[in-house]
Amino acid sequence: MPPDVTQVPLGSASIEPLHALLENAAWDAFIRTMRETAAQLKNRAIWNINSTAHGGGVAEMLAWQIPYERGVGMDVRWLVIQGGTPFFTFTKRLHALLHGVAADGSMINDAERTEYEQTLSRNAEALAREVRPGDVVLLHDPQTAALAPYFVRYGCRVIWRCHIGVDQPNEVVKGAWRFLLPHVAAAHATVFSRRAYVWEGLDQQRVEIIPPAIDAFAPKNQELDGQTVATILRTTGILADGAAGQAPLKVGAGSVERTTDLFPGTRLPEDARLTVQVSRWDRLKDPLGVMEGFAQFVAPRIDSHLILAGPGASTVADDPEESGVLREVEDGWHHLPPAARDRVHLARLPMDDPQENALIVNALQRRAQVVVQKSLGEGFGLTVAEAMWKGRPVVASRVGGIQDQIEHGKSGLLIDDPHDLGAFGAAVAGLFSDTGAADRLGTEAKRRVQRQFLAPRQLLQQAGLIGRLLQSAQ
Ligand code: UDP
Repeated sequence: MPPDVTQVPLGSASIEPLHALLENAAWDAFIRTMRETAAQLKNRAIWNINSTAHGGGVAEMLAWQIPYERGVGMDVRWLVIQGGTPFFTFTKRLHALLHGVAADGSMINDAERTEYEQTLSRNAEALAREVRPGDVVLLHDPQTAALAPYFVRYGCRVIWRCHIGVDQPNEVVKGAWRFLLPHVAAAHATVFSRRAYVWEGLDQQRVEIIPPAIDAFAPKNQELDGQTVATILRTTGILADGAAGQAPLKVGAGSVERTTDLFPGTRLPEDARLTVQVSRWDRLKDPLGVMEGFAQFVAPRIDSHLILAGPGASTVADDPEESGVLREVEDGWHHLPPAARDRVHLARLPMDDPQENALIVNALQRRAQVVVQKSLGEGFGLTVAEAMWKGRPVVASRVGGIQDQIEHGKSGLLIDDPHDLGAFGAAVAGLFSDTGAADRLGTEAKRRVQRQFLAPRQLLQQAGLIGRLLQSAQ
């Protein structure tokens, strides 16, 4: 019995506001390509297929991308595959293998292969009730890879997009590639975020590099003035002197009313100078390292407070790994020197309303004097682009896609060894001491994101690819 796939309901958005982000010539080229691809599609649809409607970078990106594409007349939809616990347990392991981690030392076994292929074959049947031959199918990440040969045979133009990758693939990574390669190689095109992430064994002619981007007009990134930023942070109870838990604060189409869960429970002074990292509670984001580096090398020299912000209790509850990391960070906090401890805060943000969560993240990033992303590994690192777009000076590890965003010393600061707490702390403290340099980095950071990491560039690249695939099919 095929499972029911879920269609994520989405509206349509005018792309006219994007004009403000582009020079006239670039806008003309952009709008021309978007309209040409829309015309080429005729009555064919584009189906994005992934494994979750909420949480994570892919869902974040589809949520803004699809409405804009619809805004130029493309019929773009989003379907979510279904699977049981064994399937998702395996795909979680597959994700770890693709990052080079074989927790129990084992590679993929026959039972896992069967579970993966059978689940996707059942999904293919269900998806075929919606998708028609001739449509464009855009598969996201390893969870959906085995659908590629199916939809090629079905008569669709198929793109497989990989959103993850590692700087230095080891044998574990290559083993996972070999498992997926027969599926992925069937696609008419494969898309990676960086050249360094392209797998061995793929036909290079069919590979396209499309780095991720952010939407300048989403609640996460929309312009907020200083007063609104402060009011959001007071309303959610991060800054003192606030009316937390009182009347909801309206900001554009969204509103902020829920309280952020602070650890320890004391709110921050209204005039505190902030160092902020926004991340899921994940060891690869190294929250313990951020805290220790700050306590040892920043707090003794600079009067800044550190906020580590991440998802609040409601999401953490059903992710044992996240709650484990959060506990480790709380334990670590107790071991900090008392003077530093008073200036280190964990903020668990309300997650019930994604717009509210996004507005709080936006306000935190804008209010920060320095934003950090001390990841040990990172596919792309959307939080870096988000902070750079807000003109913030960012200190981040020289890993993964972060290296493509920050040019060291020009549009932010990169730490060569992500484990080097001294270098991390010195870079953060240096920005507080030299605010002129911090401002220059922030200004250039915003320019760089405007040139390379905003929605129009990604929309244009994808529309161009789809246009070429449709042409080659004729
Ligand atoms: N994020 C959020 N609330 C949180 C933590 C993270 O909205 O409490 C967002 C963050 O702003 C970014 C995304 O989740 O848009 C994380 O993407 P990134 O590429 O930085 O890391 P990933 O979580 O995909 O590893």
